[in-house]
Amino acid sequence: MADEDQTDFQLLAEYSADIICRTGLDMRFLYVSPSCVQVLGYTPEEMMGMEPFGHVLPEDLPGLTAVANRNLMPGIEPSRATARMRKKDGTIIWMEISARVVRDSSTEEPLEAVIVMRDVTERKSMEDQLARLALTDGLTGLPNRRAFDQDLDREWKRTLREGSQISLLLVDIDYFKEFNDNYGHQVGDDCLRAIAIAVHGVVRTTDIAARYGGEEIAVILPSTFAPGAVEVAEKVRSAVEALKLHYQVCPDGRSCVTVSVGVGTALARDGGTMRMPESLLLAADNALYKAKHEGRNRIATALLVAFKAG
Ligand code: GH3
Ligand code: MG
Ligand code: MG
Repeated sequence: MADEDQTDFQLLAEYSADIICRTGLDMRFLYVSPSCVQVLGYTPEEMMGMEPFGHVLPEDLPGLTAVANRNLMPGIEPSRATARMRKKDGTIIWMEISARVVRDSSTEEPLEAVIVMRDVTERKSMEDQLARLALTDGLTGLPNRRAFDQDLDREWKRTLREGSQISLLLVDIDYFKEFNDNYGHQVGDDCLRAIAIAVHGVVRTTDIAARYGGEEIAVILPSTFAPGAVEVAEKVRSAVEALKLHYQVCPDGRSCVTVSVGVGTALARDGGTMRMPESLLLAADNALYKAKHEGRNRIATALLVAFKAG
């Protein structure tokens, strides 16, 4: 760096809240700005004796190194990376790291790198919270339809890989329109919430309960064959019945809120031609229709669906 450039750089770096560093091509620090004390807890002198990425958590190192190597290539617009770093006091923060290679103005030879590290922990936690909210149903707190679609796709692919089986429950509240008409939408919402909590409470930790639609809850049962799925479905049905949610005017005279459950099971088999996981949903939906027609407050199962493994 020319002398006046060096002075400008130093001035900028000394007053920045970001950590600004210069490193040689051997990746050793040539300069670290004082803000590293506030951000990481280390003095510039302590930092100088460390590797530039010495505080990065090992699992974030490959991604960061890949970005850094790419940024070293000539003609590349440098991109930023985010990685977690361990502070001197042991706490972990998210840092956004950008780097620019300083090249010789006539030969274009790389001379050194300027690295800027910014604490983005707060932004990252807000982003994580937003991402979680985008996948959560506001009324019931269960994963929403979008999350369900992603989960089902992932579990279906896993079933294919393992050549195993997967089951799906569709839980639908019986005569819920009538319930709303009689007690009001607010009481309907409370009822839906109570049922969602009950369903979530009885399924296994490996199962995924989600709000599938208006008053329908879907449960993905990974690696579960039909008899196991029927067992979970029956637990769901009886748990809702046990809530004894008052429904005096229920058309079938039961006087409490009930659900019907459709159970679909799919096996990974060679040579199948079914479209998955849509066919599994269809199977569970057909089973639900059957449960409704057979009198509600019951479960029904659908034919096994074969699909191509591998
Ligand atoms: P069935 O036993 O055949 O399922 O009858 P049903 O009345 O439950 O079926 P239908 O599909 O005709 O009605 C579903 C009702 O669920 C309609 C709607 O008023 C109600 N519903 C859907 N989503 C919500 C919700 O978020 N809150 C409340 N309170 N009601 C809802
Ligand atoms: Mg319905
Ligand atoms: Mg219904």
